[in-house]
Amino acid sequence: MGLLTQGKPLSWEETKKYAEYVRKHGILQFIAIYRKLKDRQDQYLRWGDEVEYMIVKLDHSNQKAKLALKAEEILKIMNEREEREGDKRASLWRPEFAAYMVEGTPGSPFGAANDHTAVLSHFNCVEDSMRTRRLEVEQLLAKDESLLCLTSFPRLGCPDFSVPRLVPDPENSGTGSLFFPDGAIFGGHPRFKLTLAQNIRKRRGRKVIINIPIYRDVNTKDPFLEHFNDEEAEDSARADHIYMDAMGFGMGCCCLQVTFQASNIQEARILYDQLTPLCPILMALSAASPIHRGYISDRDCRWSVISQSVDDRTKEELGEEPLKSCKYRINKSRYDSIDSYISEEGAKYNDIQLVYNEEYYKQMVDAGIDTLLAKHVAHLFIRDPITLYREKLDQDDEHETDHFENIQSTNWQTMRFKPPPPQSSIGWRVEFRPMEVQFTEFENAAFVVFIVLLTRVILTYRLNFLIPISKVDENMQEAQKRDAVSRCRYWFRKDIITHTSPPEAAACVEATGCPSESNICNSNLDESCILMSVNEIINGKGNHFPGLVPLLRQYLTSVEIDAATHCTVQQYLNLIANRACGNLMTTAAWIRKYVTGHEQYKKDSKVTDKINYDLIKTVNSIVKGETVCKELVGDSPFTKARILRQQK
Ligand code: GLU
Ligand code: MG
Repeated sequence: MGLLTQGKPLSWEETKKYAEYVRKHGILQFIAIYRKLKDRQDQYLRWGDEVEYMIVKLDHSNQKAKLALKAEEILKIMNEREEREGDKRASLWRPEFAAYMVEGTPGSPFGAANDHTAVLSHFNCVEDSMRTRRLEVEQLLAKDESLLCLTSFPRLGCPDFSVPRLVPDPENSGTGSLFFPDGAIFGGHPRFKLTLAQNIRKRRGRKVIINIPIYRDVNTKDPFLEHFNDEEAEDSARADHIYMDAMGFGMGCCCLQVTFQASNIQEARILYDQLTPLCPILMALSAASPIHRGYISDRDCRWSVISQSVDDRTKEELGEEPLKSCKYRINKSRYDSIDSYISEEGAKYNDIQLVYNEEYYKQMVDAGIDTLLAKHVAHLFIRDPITLYREKLDQDDEHETDHFENIQSTNWQTMRFKPPPPQSSIGWRVEFRPMEVQFTEFENAAFVVFIVLLTRVILTYRLNFLIPISKVDENMQEAQKRDAVSRCRYWFRKDIITHTSPPEAAACVEATGCPSESNICNSNLDESCILMSVNEIINGKGNHFPGLVPLLRQYLTSVEIDAATHCTVQQYLNLIANRACGNLMTTAAWIRKYVTGHEQYKKDSKVTDKINYDLIKTVNSIVKGETVCKELVGDSPFTKARILRQQK
């Protein structure tokens, strides 16, 4: 989730003093990287996924599911192994925000082979890699504990949600939360994450305020308004919303991310832009977090919870008070959707006002960086650093990048454009960050392979998915809503073939049954961008749009790919296609159905300990392959066989 370094974090007062210093050197460091590496070429695609997990304990005697605060213990063992075995490790483990979370990645990136066929054959490795990862950690857990991919833990922040049991201490804790104790924050580095949370609170001048609309059921209180015996909470909690007050409610959620290494900086910029309109669509399809702090919400995705949970803007920046000591009005949280495209083609779709630091912008332009990229970086650099180490203050700007990374890695946006790290074999990369995590490896692999394959098609056929960035923002709002796959419609580009597309692109579109003329890029933006359902975007809309899955299937017929991988990829595409058309449920819809259908559910939006226990127990049996959940993955014999392989 961000930069981790050894040492002692400075207090907010000190960090603030160094804010300008960090930014200034961060910009110099970016200029140095750019100068050195702007012409770097990497021949082959490399990519890797990041899966975030929760360590869950099923307390069978009390029928409660809790979060086990064991990340530090597990990571200590994993780090020792990593030091001993180095790059022979099958998986790599990193801390996340919460003490019950770990993040696992493959030991080395996929696709690092030297020919195209080998790149595709890695699609058949990702699911096993994910399974190996989970089993590696589960071997270190007690019998009643499991490593689960849950985007949000339903009873996070309810009394007694963790083992060991912790009691929030609003008076004396760093976050001041009424619900989320400081001890549930990961503590590995000298309280790095706690400092992060504390400094966000100090910077904004009050606790974070998270309000998520409640799902209204027949017996839900009307209006739904809790009382907290706390002035700040009483002022902050909105009627008919679930109120939360700590970074942990957001950053304590899990997600599924994919990072791509592009062959050069231009390609990375194209991918960054082209994947941006896909963010809300893939978020809606992967929706998996309908419950927060023991209540069913009217949202299916974590996005706005995290966004609010790390929002460090002051009242001045928010526009609630006139600007006096702050420099800018800022329209979004540090965790939010991106504000500008950065490829040449993208420029004309940048239709929202970009807040950026003009001085840094000029400095970068003077140093030879083009205006689009300079604006992007100058936009990230309107933020203050929120944690800082004394030991790291003094940097060699030609060879180190910590100050740049400090600001970059605490801009948690839908996409991230990542320059190569200094002195490494890694190239220009792009990270795709909106997706929620699914229960099983089969599903997670399906989402990852879908998006990686889509990047291949975009680049090979030079497709164009760009729409005005304001419309992507509109889509982001829609995508989080309850049942957003079936109930909402999204702006999407219908004419995706460009004048630089090779003839195969048109042939590919034709082969899906959609006339290619209507898919040739139209310069009239209003006509090219239409409202479609997720189903239409993914599976096609008659004569108007070929659909992403049919396009990918068509692409697969044109490349060399071994039969086994081909078959696996088809199953993954089936999953995506069936989720999009509603034959299969999203994880969020399934969780809702489970909870509201539970015999003890009182139609009051409340998720009790018993309901939570039964839900998590069921999820655990799905993950272990003891049950195949037809509503989520279907019942093709192939899928069943794959899922059953998950058994230890
Ligand atoms: N857990 C965060 C999320 O759900 C992401 C943290 C990270 O950037 O790794 O989006
Ligand atoms: Mg992470």
